[in-house]
Amino acid sequence: MEPTLQWQAGTVSAIHPETSQTKSFTIALPKWMAHRAGMHYDVRLTAPDGYQTERSYSIASAPEREGLIELTVERIADGEVSPYLHDVLVTGDQLEVRGPIGGYFVWEVRLGGPLVLIGGGSGVVPLMAMLRHRAAEHAAIPARLLYSSRTQDDVIYRDELDAMAAGDKGFEALFTFTRQAPPGWTGYRRRIDAAMLSEVMQPFGSRARIYVCGPTLLVEAVANALVQMHVPIEQIRTERFGPTGV
Ligand SMILES: Cc1cc2nc3c(=O)[nH]c(=O)nc-3n(C[C@H](O)[C@H](O)[C@H](O)COP(=O)(O)OP(=O)(O)OC[C@H]3O[C@@H](n4cnc5c(N)ncnc54)[C@H](O)[C@@H]3O)c2cc1C
Repeated sequence: MEPTLQWQAGTVSAIHPETSQTKSFTIALPKWMAHRAGMHYDVRLTAPDGYQTERSYSIASAPEREGLIELTVERIADGEVSPYLHDVLVTGDQLEVRGPIGGYFVWEVRLGGPLVLIGGGSGVVPLMAMLRHRAAEHAAIPARLLYSSRTQDDVIYRDELDAMAAGDKGFEALFTFTRQAPPGWTGYRRRIDAAMLSEVMQPFGSRARIYVCGPTLLVEAVANALVQMHVPIEQIRTERFGPTGV
């Protein structure tokens, strides 16, 4: 971590529900610093008795949005921090944060592509920052997103992803549903596997830069499959968010 990073009090300037279990929080920062897409912030909560706890949240917004960050948080029912952010935090509140943090799971236009982004659940958040950055820079770098969700209602950023894909020949969003696909769905309806990965990567051959983010089980399964497909390991970046599978 950057030794110079200090905790700062951000102001929650907007809260936007994304799905029934996820909300995006826009936070204005007095000491905003440009991040690289894929980086995260730590959020620290302090109880009246002084007890403190902190969690990491990826930055969803592009670095081009100056002065603020957007975090998208899934509500984990028995969690300590995410239910507080969902149920207690309101617009105008202050939130203690520290960042931006991370230098490994990052992508920026100058790194080039083609880009294959593979996400499960809230693992789509840092991938969305990469796509928003790509769009803000009007980059023509070919990109594909493979996004695994339990059901259609769990897809975060659906409208924005559809709009992005409709307006950009270089970008395609592919979805897979692991519990229930929407009626009439002709796309994928299973966990991500080697056959699905080969189809998604096919247009790019083995040249793609690949970013994988989500629950630990998903990330490990995808990373293992990619290695078995002889994708050069230095082209694969992974980030694990939590213990459960999608
Ligand atoms: C680098 C990094 C970036 C992250 N970015 C995001 C993000 O953008 N959005 C986001 O929603 N989360 C993100 N996370 C996960 C986040 O840091 C917390 O772990 C998550 O919000 C749960 O915290 P909690 O205090 O609510 O639950 P905790 O009190 O920590 O855990 C409660 C219970 O839920 C389980 N649990 C913990 N995390 C998860 C999970 N992710 N999925 C399912 N069960 C879980 C625990 O094992 C425990 O049983 C990120 C994690 C890392 C390491």
